[in-house]
Amino acid sequence: MNNFEHLCVSLLKHCKTLKNVKQIQAHACKTGLDTHPYFSGKLLLHCAISIFDSLDYARLLFLHTPNPDVFMYNTLIRGLSETDSPQNSLLTFIQMRRKLELPPDSFSFAFVVKAAANLRCLRAGFQLHCQALVHGLDTHLFVGTTLIIMYAECGCVVSARKVFDEMFQPNVVAWNAVVTACFRCDDVKGAENLFDRMPIRNLMSWNVMLGGYVKKGEIGLAKKLFLEMPIKDDVSWSTMIVGCAHNGCFDEAFGLFRELQHVGIRPNEASLTGVLSACAQAGAFEFGKILHGYIDKAGLVWISSVNNALLDTYSKCGNVGMARLVFERMPGKKSLVSWTSMMAGLAMQGYGEEAMKIFDKMEKSGVRPDGITFISILYACSHAGLIEEGCGYFSKMREIYGIEPAIEHYGCMVDLYGRAGQLQKAYEFVIQMPISHNAIIWRTLLGACSIHNDVELAEQVKERLSELDPNNSSDHVLLSNIYAVAGKWKHVATVRRSMTDQRLKKIPGWSMIEVDKVMYSFVAGQKQNKITEEAYQKLREIMLKLRVEGGYVPEVGNVLHDIEAEEKEDSLSKHSEKLAVAFGIARLCKGSVIRIVKNLRVCKDCHIVMNLISKVYGLEIVVRDRSRFHSFKDGSCSCRDYW
Ligand code: ZN
Ligand code: ZN
Repeated sequence: MNNFEHLCVSLLKHCKTLKNVKQIQAHACKTGLDTHPYFSGKLLLHCAISIFDSLDYARLLFLHTPNPDVFMYNTLIRGLSETDSPQNSLLTFIQMRRKLELPPDSFSFAFVVKAAANLRCLRAGFQLHCQALVHGLDTHLFVGTTLIIMYAECGCVVSARKVFDEMFQPNVVAWNAVVTACFRCDDVKGAENLFDRMPIRNLMSWNVMLGGYVKKGEIGLAKKLFLEMPIKDDVSWSTMIVGCAHNGCFDEAFGLFRELQHVGIRPNEASLTGVLSACAQAGAFEFGKILHGYIDKAGLVWISSVNNALLDTYSKCGNVGMARLVFERMPGKKSLVSWTSMMAGLAMQGYGEEAMKIFDKMEKSGVRPDGITFISILYACSHAGLIEEGCGYFSKMREIYGIEPAIEHYGCMVDLYGRAGQLQKAYEFVIQMPISHNAIIWRTLLGACSIHNDVELAEQVKERLSELDPNNSSDHVLLSNIYAVAGKWKHVATVRRSMTDQRLKKIPGWSMIEVDKVMYSFVAGQKQNKITEEAYQKLREIMLKLRVEGGYVPEVGNVLHDIEAEEKEDSLSKHSEKLAVAFGIARLCKGSVIRIVKNLRVCKDCHIVMNLISKVYGLEIVVRDRSRFHSFKDGSCSCRDYW
């Protein structure tokens, strides 16, 4: 090759777009360089591996090459192995095997075994293993390592270990692969054993162990390892933050994020979305705002996953205005995830019509909804009492978009009818469902019966539930509450007895509130401490004020036992959301919004109390419960007493 030709090859390396590549290719065609095997090999490599979204062009190039060599075959096999259809990689390998003059080398096997791993096809993987054996390449470092990965993906940890044991001097990558294999197949002890035996442990090995622990939910072990790590990079930090967020250790996730900035490591995409997800789950609005400021300042607003996480955080913290702002300011074309999260955010607040407008805009922008989008919009309709509109979306889903409704969509429809009090219609809908019902569907209907006090239907529904899921305590609680409202105390006692017989316990309710960027949690019936003492004291004062100024009368229907009225009131006053609100009033400065997250549904009495507090104290309270947001202002709630 002459100087010009060398220049062309080195220019290729600097191309960032397919357009640039084609320009160089055009020059090469003029001089006849394009038929030179070295150049065409490099051209193919560049299109198949380096440039985003140009694999199709690479396939075209390959088809137009008269006699592709092993290097070119390997390149295409490699490029295809990482796509959504790795079987094309296997097909290319088979084509290559038909050309006897082109024996596969270690690269061919490493790449094609990767395709089998991505396909999770043990049969293909095993056959490739046999062929590698025939060619004497099965213990080769690259091939062996991908074989370990393949067996792990297919769930055969024993075979993965065997391949590893037969490898001659495995390197760090092979060690890491076999440790990952153990975690993949739930063998935590095996992974620990290997980790202890590793001759060299680099940062990556520690990160593999850390990631393995986190994925297996072994957060205690992960924390211990994290402290022992000689050096940590952004991957180690983000793994730990995401792990804490997923396992409900929100405080620790926030603490780690602060520490990470303190040691001077730039938070990456994963740690940011991880800590935002912790904020969303815990309802930590103030911390979310700090993160938002950080993201703006660090110039990270272009990362769409970070934007989506931020949007979700604001939605789940009950601030739909900020969520909208993030949504409107997203750079570039909005993805389906962004549209769907915006709809879900509006839906949770009961802004059904707003959510429908977003759906409309999304369709006009040319983005196609998927099943999850339809769950959000159906949810929006049901929480805003938009029955006709909800039915419209349900039929649109199949007729216009060809999406078969799944059990979740049927659940939304039952909820839609149930909330609106059309219980008989909901019941018929379940009976006529073309797919088999599950407990969740019936539970939704039972919930509706409880809101609308339909004892007769509730009994029928409970019977169905007992067949499907006899050990669910919340079903028993719901039914007994329905009986209690109807004053059928004997029935309440029977349900309760059967609960104790089956050793079913009520799930304890908890509520969380953020004060000065610290999360406080209150659990029903927890041990007294300084914080709860403060909350109880304030609550007593509030309840007195509500009786005198707000005309409060306790709604005792939702208490489980048949006990004396005064006692019932006492157990009502221990509900965690009331304590959290009282604590918020005691600690937060005047004029701030009180935001609470509760793990169960808000009960009727707490709902009344919050309404009254918002009026008597002139306060805004936002409560996120298991099913939606309630925002209380001037004595009324955004759910219009419909939840
Ligand atoms: Zn309550
Ligand atoms: Zn409400």
